[in-house]
Amino acid sequence: MVEISNHMPTAELQALDAAHHMHPFSTQSGFSKKGARVITRAKGTRLWDSEGAEILDAMAGLWCVNIGYGRDELAEAAYRQMKELPYYNTFFQTTHVPVIALSQRLAELAPGDLNHVFYAGSGSEANDTNIRMARFYWAQKGKPEKNIIISRKNAYHGSTLGAMSLGGMSGMHTQGGVVQNVHHIDQPNWWSEGGDMSPEDFGIERAQQLEKAILELGEDRVAAFIAEPIQGAGGVIVPPDSYWPELKRICDQYDILLIADEVICGFGRTGNWFGSETVGIQPHIMTIAKGLSSGYAPIGGSIVCDEVAEVVGGDEFNHGYTYAGHPVSCAVALENLRILDEEGIVTRAREEIAPYLKEKFEGLTEHPMVGEAKIVGMMGSIALTPHKESRAAFASETGTVGYMVRERCFANNLIMRHVGDRMIISPPLVISKEDVDLLIARAWQSLDEGMAQVKADGLF
Ligand code: PMP
Repeated sequence: MVEISNHMPTAELQALDAAHHMHPFSTQSGFSKKGARVITRAKGTRLWDSEGAEILDAMAGLWCVNIGYGRDELAEAAYRQMKELPYYNTFFQTTHVPVIALSQRLAELAPGDLNHVFYAGSGSEANDTNIRMARFYWAQKGKPEKNIIISRKNAYHGSTLGAMSLGGMSGMHTQGGVVQNVHHIDQPNWWSEGGDMSPEDFGIERAQQLEKAILELGEDRVAAFIAEPIQGAGGVIVPPDSYWPELKRICDQYDILLIADEVICGFGRTGNWFGSETVGIQPHIMTIAKGLSSGYAPIGGSIVCDEVAEVVGGDEFNHGYTYAGHPVSCAVALENLRILDEEGIVTRAREEIAPYLKEKFEGLTEHPMVGEAKIVGMMGSIALTPHKESRAAFASETGTVGYMVRERCFANNLIMRHVGDRMIISPPLVISKEDVDLLIARAWQSLDEGMAQVKADGLF
């Protein structure tokens, strides 16, 4: 057996990785040529790679390490729980203390009467639960034909077949097909799709697409509308201010469930515990994952309101995952929530760091290639453009320029992601002002280097 450790030369680790590890959302054949960067440890907002480089992680992993890396308390919570009760399920009239404690705490934190939690191992699984739960809810109420879920183009709700179908990523839909009875309306991306409309009018128009869809499909056919309060993986699309109030009016008017996907927005990301609070909505179901455990252990779930929980609880819901409410993940999540709360991390993010980050981040619009900067709490994006006034897209294939800048960030030891020609950030909530300055400086440098390349390619 090969002894594999951090001490192996990077090239050997990369070769073994390329030979045996299939990466998500990647072109695998690229790894044999280039090699993946090997991350060996992390602390606070920093990662280190196998070459010893120190990297500023402006994405908090995959939008999840809200509390920052390297908190011993979470490791100790996992250790204690593994020793005491490493696993037990909650299927057949059994339960355990960590799942009881976490559910009680989530009911306390979640707004309104969202008092019941159905667990999953991830955000994708939780959204699969939501599809089945929304349909089961209406079937229990004698309306089995009320089974269409309305979602949005360019939304991301996960990678399982159900969650992927809910999402509106066409590149995913074309690989292997989708589940039936999901309908997509347009996203509120004013920069790319707003044309000559004012942002406010555009926000209303996009929200009213929901009403049109309900009327066209029939209120008696539509089970639910799902949306992230702020679209994350679609490119941190911050909707115009008019958008959510109009959506809220529509959701209140028609008899459908509102599902808020809080997988990214939850647990402080937007400056409040939940994005629903930031945009002023009271959903029937919220999807949670990521920041729930700050990514230290896999866990997701659906927080469900009293009425839906009561109806669904009226008969056997034939659904559940082996790792739902995993005791170790629950113990880690509880400890994470304790720290987020007791150390005032969410409050500090909202009142101190988010305003500072906003000011600095919006300063990036002074760069010749940055058209707009949008940021809510601790998630933001900039739009790259060859011409700010007309909000033009680059003549290259969408994403080429974003990819170039992302590669420059990576080389400059800054993790920033690109979605098409938008560059996005979602740093750990514990980031310091000094690290915000470093983030902006490295982003600016990467933009400069990217622009030089773009100019050399004749795209600017
Ligand atoms: N919903 C949203 C809004 C997400 O951003 C993600 C992941 N990026 C998911 C669902 C899926 O979560 P997971 O990767 O844990 O399955």
